Amino acid sequence: MTTCTPSSIYGPVASWRLGRSLGVDLLCIDSICSFECIYCQLGKINRVTKQRDVFVSTEAVLDDLKRSEWENCDVITFSGSGEPTLAKNLGEVIEKVKELTGKPVVVLTNSTLLFVPEVRYELAKADTIYCKLDAWSDDVLRRVDRPHAGISLKSIISGIRLLRDEFDGFLAIQTMLLRRPKRFELKRFSEILYCLEPDEVQLNTPSRPVPKNYFLESRGNITESDSNSSFLKTLSKVELEGVRAKLAEFTKLPIITR
Ligand code: SF4
Repeated sequence: MTTCTPSSIYGPVASWRLGRSLGVDLLCIDSICSFECIYCQLGKINRVTKQRDVFVSTEAVLDDLKRSEWENCDVITFSGSGEPTLAKNLGEVIEKVKELTGKPVVVLTNSTLLFVPEVRYELAKADTIYCKLDAWSDDVLRRVDRPHAGISLKSIISGIRLLRDEFDGFLAIQTMLLRRPKRFELKRFSEILYCLEPDEVQLNTPSRPVPKNYFLESRGNITESDSNSSFLKTLSKVELEGVRAKLAEFTKLPIITR
C-alpha cells in the first residue's frame, strides 16, 4: 500500500446539486480511472485500469477527515482523482465516515464496475449515487469515455440496472453531452434511461477546462483555463435545453440541466 502524502479530503466545494460538498479522494496518489473521458477535468488519467486496490488506507482517510472542517459541509462526496469504486476500501470508508460525521454520503461513479456484486454492496452504504452514462452506443462510449479494454455499454447498463434493483437510496444518471444527438440516438438513449428507472437524470455539457496533465487541484472546482488547459466546443444552453425537453418527453423522467 502506498502512503498518501496529499490530503484525501478536499473542499468543501460548491456543488450545483449538493450544496457545500466535502470531497473524499480515495485515489489521491495519482489520477486513476477505468475511463479516459475526453472532457475529464483531471486532464490526463495516468493509470487506466479496472483493477481494484487500496490506494489510500482507511486510517489515513479518517485522520485527514478529523483534521478537516467537515462540520461546515452539507454532504460528503466520494469523487476525487478518478473512479472511487476502484478503491477496495470504499465500503469500509463510507461506513466509518457516516459513523464519524452523521453526514449524508454521495458517491460519483462512472458505472464501469457496477456489474461486480461486491462493488454494488459497498456502494449501497451511501445515501445517494450518481451514475455516469454518456453513451447510447459502443461507438459513442469509445469516442467520449475511452474505456479500458473489455468495458462495454452493455456491461455498464446492466450494472446500473442491478444497482437500481438493490439500492433504495437516490440514484441519478449523470450525462455529459458533447454534441446534439440525432433523433434516432435520442430515441435509443431514451429507451435506455427509461429501463434504468433513475430518480433523476442530470444532463450537462462540459463547462470546465481540460488540463494537459493531471495535477491534484484539478479534483476541485476549477472554472478558468490557463496556458496548460483548454475548453472544449460544446452545446449551447438552448441546444442542451432542446435535448432535455425531448428526453423528458420520451422518458417521462425528471431530467434537469444546470
Ligand atoms: S470517469 Fe471521471 S475521472 Fe474518469 S476519466 Fe471520466 S471524467 Fe475523468
